[in-house]
Amino acid sequence: MTEFDGLKALVTGGASGIGRATAELLAARGAQVTVLDLAPESVDKPLLARRADVTDDASVREAVAAAAEEMGGLDILVNNAGIGAQGTVEDNDDETWHRVLDVNVLGMVRTTRAALPHLRASRHAAIVNTCSIAATAGLPQRALYSASKGAVLSLTLAMAADHVREGIRVNCVNPGTVDTPWVGRLLGAAEDPAAERAALEARQPTGRLVTAEEVAAAIAYLASPSAGASTGVALAVDGGMQGLRLRPV
Ligand code: NAD
Repeated sequence: MTEFDGLKALVTGGASGIGRATAELLAARGAQVTVLDLAPESVDKPLLARRADVTDDASVREAVAAAAEEMGGLDILVNNAGIGAQGTVEDNDDETWHRVLDVNVLGMVRTTRAALPHLRASRHAAIVNTCSIAATAGLPQRALYSASKGAVLSLTLAMAADHVREGIRVNCVNPGTVDTPWVGRLLGAAEDPAAERAALEARQPTGRLVTAEEVAAAIAYLASPSAGASTGVALAVDGGMQGLRLRPV
């Protein structure tokens, strides 16, 4: 028996990066896992995968219902799908603000709304949201992204309060700079990607980026029955940035 035997999990944005590492880890520890993503084609067995756009309520409701039916229930929801945005408040127009908040905040609201009726039937119900140190760090050039993750942090706490008596725990992880395709895309846009990576690593307290597997391990802990007394928690997985009061710039 492993810790997740018999438990069924949904991971949004599970086709890449942190979501993929989380889906693979939960499956390796015995859970049945369905990935919801815009691009589910790359997801391999034993993971199940469905196409869903978290900005489209009908698409989310349909995919969550189909996944819960296929797996025979739902115990764990990992709200992980998210997109980035750079710049100050002057750099992004209303359309961009709406798009990023739609994916990063409302996306979690939609999947949670669709999943709650199934989670209420579970004896080990847990929701884990992928937040960010950007929620509280006051990072430069990240106004929109930080606002979206600040909302995710508040949403996590409010949801934890709303559902605690139903036996549904709600927590989030606050990753620092994680070595995923997302960061690869940012570095790829730099003039000298190798030099930019070295500079980014040098700015980390640990001297290296966080791995997707390290964030997945934290998500898996918060989702596991072992974390049964933890709800409304934001767990930093940031190589020491938050605790040491350091900032990636
Ligand atoms: P990634 O780009 O590697 O993966 C994101 C996944 O989300 C992709 O598979 C993408 O297809 C999916 N996705 C995007 N929009 C979607 C939509 N509308 N509907 C369904 N799926 C959608 O990114 P990542 O680095 O693994 O980031 C995952 C989460 O971690 C995000 O919420 C991000 O904000 C957060 N995070 C990342 C870092 C980092 O440094 N990489 C740091 C802190 C927080």
